[in-house]
Amino acid sequence: MIEIMHRRRNEDKFEAARQRMLKWDLKGRDITDPHVLSAMIEVPREEFIPDSHRSQAYTDGPLPIGLNQTISQPYIVALMTQELRVNQESEVLEIGTGSGYQTAVLSKLVKKVYTIERFSELADSARKVLERLGISNVEFHVGDGSSGWPASRLPPSGCFDRIMITAAVPEVPRPLAWQLVDGGLIVAPVGGRSVQELVACEKKPDSLVGKTICDVRFVRLIGKHGFEQ
Ligand code: SAH
Repeated sequence: MIEIMHRRRNEDKFEAARQRMLKWDLKGRDITDPHVLSAMIEVPREEFIPDSHRSQAYTDGPLPIGLNQTISQPYIVALMTQELRVNQESEVLEIGTGSGYQTAVLSKLVKKVYTIERFSELADSARKVLERLGISNVEFHVGDGSSGWPASRLPPSGCFDRIMITAAVPEVPRPLAWQLVDGGLIVAPVGGRSVQELVACEKKPDSLVGKTICDVRFVRLIGKHGFEQ
């Protein structure tokens, strides 16, 4: 009984914190897409955070998730989602599953999310949280996301409508550009090891044409078409 009351008090506390995040950190800045805002309210960020930091689940900053990786700041998750301009028909490739929080937010807005993570421990834990939350339109893969989704398991169309990279890349990895449909969008932090620019690019027949959104700091994408270490 006491245990149940304690859990309910915590849920109320997190619900209030989520509403504050929506008002101050998202709407209070430039997140205006109503679908993105409702996905940010629907997904309980605290579920993706290790016990040691759970009380800070709604502070607007990154938090550690183990293996020297971080869950991104809520505002950046919302901004990247808004810039990806998805719809319910979109098939989205995400590179860098991490905690699975960004995956969960995307899953609320699109047909299917395909997500790649380098560390099996993180992928397993993200898979469990998504299962617990009843999210079933996500496919996982453990491996080097800089080389793209395995060709044998591509969606029927053979490519993705949208791609989001949630780790820093020196440039957009070529294999990812190849797996993006013409007219599709890719959102990624592109730049150096410590600071990058968040860019949103559209795929044209022989190039990616994009805009810069803001400066960001992401952990590095380590892989064949990413950083070496
Ligand atoms: N979107 C995540 C945050 C990701 S942090 C969230 O919401 O929690 C970046 C993630 O990219 C880390 O988990 C890291 O292990 C992963 N990563 C780094 N290099 C990678 C690669 N080559 N392929 C797939 N994942 C990679």
